[in-house]
Amino acid sequence: MSEIPLSQPDINESDILAVTSVMRSGRLSIGPRQDLFEQMVAERCSRTQGVAVSSGTAGLHMVLEALGIGPGDEVITTPFSFVASANCILMAGAKPVFVDIDPASLNLDPARLEAAITDKTKAILAVEIFGNPKHMDRIAQIAGAHEIILIEDACEGLGGVHMGKPVGSFGRAAVFGFYPNKQITTGEGGMIVTDDDRLADLCRSMRNQGRPVDAHKGDANKSGAWLAHERMGYNYRMSEITAALGCSQMERLDTFLSARRNVAGMYMRRLMDFDDLILPNVQPGTEEDMSWFVFVVRLSDQYAHVERDRIITGMRRHEVGASNYFPCIHLQPFYREMLGHKKGDFPVSESISERTIALPFFNRMDETQVELVCHTLKVMIQREQLLKR
Ligand SMILES: *Cc1c(COP(=O)(O)O)cnc(C)c1O
Repeated sequence: MSEIPLSQPDINESDILAVTSVMRSGRLSIGPRQDLFEQMVAERCSRTQGVAVSSGTAGLHMVLEALGIGPGDEVITTPFSFVASANCILMAGAKPVFVDIDPASLNLDPARLEAAITDKTKAILAVEIFGNPKHMDRIAQIAGAHEIILIEDACEGLGGVHMGKPVGSFGRAAVFGFYPNKQITTGEGGMIVTDDDRLADLCRSMRNQGRPVDAHKGDANKSGAWLAHERMGYNYRMSEITAALGCSQMERLDTFLSARRNVAGMYMRRLMDFDDLILPNVQPGTEEDMSWFVFVVRLSDQYAHVERDRIITGMRRHEVGASNYFPCIHLQPFYREMLGHKKGDFPVSESISERTIALPFFNRMDETQVELVCHTLKVMIQREQLLKR
């Protein structure tokens, strides 16, 4: 058997047909597929508005700016995430303020979050890390009680549900990403969802170089609307080719989610009795609510950083994809330099991030592949145990 990748997109013939038919249509940007994709994603998370963009990062950056978050403002977020969830705050000119995580869900710890709010806190940017939506209801309550904006970085959580509410429906706005390792992919792409019509239109203008929202309608060249720029903007548009793939993938989202749940179950059963491993914490009764993004296990705390790294290297040497999701954002060199962070600032995030191992995880993984991954992982861990003696 060949290499087992860490992730793999699920592309079928109807995806390919959707893409080629756009290419034959002659309409490659700003068209009906974008509108449809926006509707599909918005509807999925009980929102009235969707704004398709070129990436999750672009969507986050634009939402923050559109909400008036900028220099002098602080935004509370988690240090245990993909770097883009803090970078977007810097992109807007605001300051990321990190708050440590809850060791069970790996999401922002609501109690610490509430204690960290100050007069300068303009917003909370919360992440459903690895697709786990736990605490989003409490975080929304805290944001509401303090009259602070909540933004969901939902890039890892499409299709998830928490306390009966879909991921993407908790904040003032939420942002999804469609990079090839996400639950659905468009190659590159993202989507903002909100119920705020004014915010959505502002984002539609900003993604299109600050043009009026209806600049592409009618004979825009004659009316001059195409070269009228009402505000500072970006090119954060999504192409019709991308949007067509998005629509086609959205149609299969539920199939994808159940395939992923099934793979997660295969891992759980095989790794459950292995003492030195901490498995993803899914509360009993909420198994159906989780939108599995990745499958991340953790070594118990008698293992050190170097041992975890050796296990990952060993797995890769045996052609099994593995990764260290995620190194803490505040310890990345430019964050240390810019914000003065150091080791020890967020001990829960740091201790967890030193011991995580992301295992291969994708829709079409079969029993044999899962077996091979688990076997390789166990051998690598046993090797470390022998070295410790
Ligand atoms: C993937 C991801 C993003 C960024 O999405 P891109 O589309 O790659 O820009 C942002 N935040 C989190 C938590 C992510 O996992």
